[in-house]
Amino acid sequence: MDLAVIAANISRFRELYPEGHICVAVKANAFGHGAAEVARVAMASGASMLGFARLSEALALRASGQDAPMFAWLNDVADHAALAAAADIDISVSGLENLREIASAHSGVAVHLEVETGLNRGGTSPEDWAEFIAEARRFEAAGQIRVRGIWSHLSHASDADISRSRAQDQRLRAAISAAREAGLTPEFTHLANSSGVALIDPTAYNMVRLGAGVYGIDEVGIGLHPAMTLSARVMQTKRVQAGEGVSYGHTYRAPRDTTLALIAVGYADGLPWAAHGRAEVGFAGGRRPVAGRISMDQIMVDMGDLPVAVGDRVTLFGPGAHGEPTAAEWAGWAGTLEHEIYCGIGSRINRRYIFSQEESTSDE
Ligand SMILES: *Cc1c(COP(=O)(O)O)cnc(C)c1O
Repeated sequence: MDLAVIAANISRFRELYPEGHICVAVKANAFGHGAAEVARVAMASGASMLGFARLSEALALRASGQDAPMFAWLNDVADHAALAAAADIDISVSGLENLREIASAHSGVAVHLEVETGLNRGGTSPEDWAEFIAEARRFEAAGQIRVRGIWSHLSHASDADISRSRAQDQRLRAAISAAREAGLTPEFTHLANSSGVALIDPTAYNMVRLGAGVYGIDEVGIGLHPAMTLSARVMQTKRVQAGEGVSYGHTYRAPRDTTLALIAVGYADGLPWAAHGRAEVGFAGGRRPVAGRISMDQIMVDMGDLPVAVGDRVTLFGPGAHGEPTAAEWAGWAGTLEHEIYCGIGSRINRRYIFSQEESTSDE
């Protein structure tokens, strides 16, 4: 994991969004990159807040000693209001029932009200908004909650057609105006994710929530780079003859006499099983095919007649600068998203951190 690349990606967003607050989403173990380390580099790079899906993720990072402002948008633990208030973590409120439940804890917890503007996931719809904010205002006046933010989430941020994002933007602005008229004074207003940053009027809201782009998933082409390299050692080599089958089901047959290399990374570590038959790894400046099915814990690589020894490294994926596949290519081979490749990298993978523009590794 190259933390310098993460810092550079955040700087790139800072250029596009010079004034407001940046909330870096470190949910799902920072998309597999390691929440504690990414949180540190994010705060050192000028982020104002750390974003989480589940409150339990935020509580865990708080317990580990991270004292940055935190916001979690899914309340997945019992007693969430009291726990969040005690740990000084902002939580989201999706609707009236959720609001009443949170207020009933009388914790004074800081909340961000979620507006349904078109994604049709969480949030309160425009037609229920007046009642929702009136109730929130009453709870705030009674000290049961504090309304610290108002927010929504885009459904088509990476679309070339920006009409849906425009409509969501209009609905959120209207909801914020109505909330202010009702006496609420949100400190943070936020709509854009990574691919929405370039879309929104940077003066309309004062925070963006950035996940994918921080990790180099560049959905709209704004000059971001992957920070994660997954490499592993060759554990064993063996010669097989032309026609011999390799791995479960012998779906691969050696096209000629060849050397196989055993790599101890499998689908339990996040290599998608569905990529078999197409997957490749980087080796010695080129690419070699993964031979046959991906097992839970290991793969075999067809090395041809290349010299290969136990202890040599293969690069499963990386930024692509040295001929290795990228996580985006693995996603293509498996019919999934780059996001899912990163998030799936499991706990058996040893994460190693560097801070440079040089090659980084994360290996077994
Ligand atoms: C994950 C997430 C983000 C970050 O979005 P990216 O597209 O990864 O930048 C922002 N807001 C919410 C609600 C999210 O779930």
